[in-house]
Amino acid sequence: MAVQNGDRPVFRALALPHLDALLARAGLDDQDRLRARAVAEVLPFRTNSYVVDELIDWRAAPDDPIYRLVFPQPDMLPRADVDRIATMLREGAPADRLRADVHELRLRLNPHPSGQRDLNTPMLDGVPTEGMQHKYAETLLFFPRQGQTCHAYCSYCFRWPQFVGEPDLKMASGDAEALRSYVASHPELTSVLITGGDPLIMSSSVLARYVEPLLDIPHLESVRIGTKALSYWPHRVLTDPDADGLLRLFERVVQSGRNLALMAHYSHPRELETAVAEQALRRVQSTGAVVRCQAPLIRGVNDRAEDWAVMWRRLVALGAVPYYMFVERDTGPQDYFAVPLGRAYDLFREAYAQISGLARTVRGPIMSATPGKVQVDGVADVAGQRAFVLHYVQARDPELVGRPFFAAYDPDARWLTDLKPLDGAGALLGLS
Ligand SMILES: *Cc1c(COP(=O)(O)O)cnc(C)c1O
Ligand code: SF4
Repeated sequence: MAVQNGDRPVFRALALPHLDALLARAGLDDQDRLRARAVAEVLPFRTNSYVVDELIDWRAAPDDPIYRLVFPQPDMLPRADVDRIATMLREGAPADRLRADVHELRLRLNPHPSGQRDLNTPMLDGVPTEGMQHKYAETLLFFPRQGQTCHAYCSYCFRWPQFVGEPDLKMASGDAEALRSYVASHPELTSVLITGGDPLIMSSSVLARYVEPLLDIPHLESVRIGTKALSYWPHRVLTDPDADGLLRLFERVVQSGRNLALMAHYSHPRELETAVAEQALRRVQSTGAVVRCQAPLIRGVNDRAEDWAVMWRRLVALGAVPYYMFVERDTGPQDYFAVPLGRAYDLFREAYAQISGLARTVRGPIMSATPGKVQVDGVADVAGQRAFVLHYVQARDPELVGRPFFAAYDPDARWLTDLKPLDGAGALLGLS
């Protein structure tokens, strides 16, 4: 099924028009196919020939973890909403009515969690800048306009407002000069993290237009690129027409004396099993770039400790560095994908116990919440009360970083905002 051009696979996206046939291949009946298509009217769906042909085990679908990673699930949004959209699809409702309903539903799905939009917008000459977030003193997040899509979409992704083409839900920038001058005028900024979507969806020359002007800013120490391309389309760094240009750009960043880190999103060890996945990792590292790996913990996709342990060990064997295990945040389908904090901690610990010190660079489970990134360190008895032990690994207020704090143990809590202070204690650290 993959289109070949010599020995160069050509990227082919599979989207809504292909969805019904793929759902049928997974064995879904008429009704579930219609409901999954209804979900895909609201949340974006996109996959590609490599994911479909090489990563998904179709004999195990629809329970296969990679299938669940990319395909809409018939029950991942509230039932009444799915049924309403499904009925409209079945009855061939007018496009504008469907669009209006879908829009209203999207707005209810918490498109910008954790105050991302209002709290972290940087000002340049007194004017708020689009497409940047400056939340932690040392790191700037930059969302390039041309990088707001991915080689495939994860079904749980919280960045979906970036993909669905609703202008009010988007935030991205095409302004390389604004990026450069903001970084240049903030000496505390040592790291720029280019993210998306997936920045490696961009051509190498467009990516270079953002990155190269940064390389003569003396206080900039690292450039990071958040990507899932090594998993969803490893050919991006191997045989794509633009692959060599990208590798040369990576080399230029490294030669400028800076750390280039690919913050690679790997969800499941399956993503490392193909020959091209392994070659892609090696080729990126041959430029001097470091590959650091992170992913959220997702029910039904990677909620087995064994999978994380195998994945972290394999990543280390291939030279990469395990970085974060995230807790899925509150973005619409969270109910469907969430793993409660207590369970997430048990899973993390069980996986962590099975890896060597080389893989224990990983931290988790981590909530990327409004005041900062909070790690669940464990469960303990504190003055006779059962408690979560937590700390900030990163915070808007640097005073909070690294200080242990406690919250009442609650087996159902899923997020920082679900947690309550211990009896007799004040507010939770950072949430006063
Ligand atoms: C995670 C994150 C960063 C990077 O934080 P590190 O702990 O340095 O990896 C920067 N900005 C935001 C908004 C983040 O969520
Ligand atoms: S690759 Fe990243 S940005 Fe793209 S859909 Fe998956 S989680 Fe979202």
